[in-house]
Amino acid sequence: MAGLSQDGGSPAAADPGTAVTDTAAPTVVAPTVAALVGQVYRPVTSLGPGRRLGVWFQGCTLACPGCMSRHTWEATGGRELTVERFAALWRAALADGLDGLTVSGGEPLEQPAALAALLAAADAERRRAGRPADLLVYTGWEPEELAADPATAAALDGADAVITGRYRAGQPTRLAWRGSANQRLTTRTALGRERYAPYLDHRPERPELQVRVSEGEVRVIGVPRPGDLGRIERDLVRRGVTLRETSWRP
Ligand code: SF4
Repeated sequence: MAGLSQDGGSPAAADPGTAVTDTAAPTVVAPTVAALVGQVYRPVTSLGPGRRLGVWFQGCTLACPGCMSRHTWEATGGRELTVERFAALWRAALADGLDGLTVSGGEPLEQPAALAALLAAADAERRRAGRPADLLVYTGWEPEELAADPATAAALDGADAVITGRYRAGQPTRLAWRGSANQRLTTRTALGRERYAPYLDHRPERPELQVRVSEGEVRVIGVPRPGDLGRIERDLVRRGVTLRETSWRP
């Protein structure tokens, strides 16, 4: 038996840390920032150009009808990923020649402090490594919502490219890396423009999907088109894999 979940895309799970006071020599320990994440995986080849490190934030209250990643909604699931641990994973990814980082969810903007900290760490590490690896973030927030809440939207400042907007099941699209036609891919830096310009209107014949089997779960990474998940499910059944539940059915 296996569960099938799709990973296309709480309040900040920041650990307040510990302030340690020594009466002889007062010392303040810097707070440890951590993101609550559902999955970290590489190489991701289906959510952005090249081979990438993927980080899926856990927790989303947007509840798009037809969301295929309902397992990411609960802000109580997942595990903490400290900025230090993330930096080590990203460092290793850069050393292995990966091309970028994709942050999806869940809703990354529901943990804005953690998102900003991860992007800052990712930028520092790529500079240290001298690698032009790009930083892509998915958010379900609409452009006007971002404009209305600049304090939260600032968490995206470290991204080279952002894909915005709710998933709308009634607006299918063939645009690369987007689940519905309303979702916008925007670039924010010179690296983002260089890396994503060829893909702004790119419509691949078939979207790339990665299927990963781990710990009793079958995970599909990428942005499937209508019918793709059903086809994968039927194929698994033909291969003798019985699905106990799926992440796209309530
Ligand atoms: S933003 Fe929408 S599509 Fe993305 S995880 Fe949340 S509910 Fe699902």
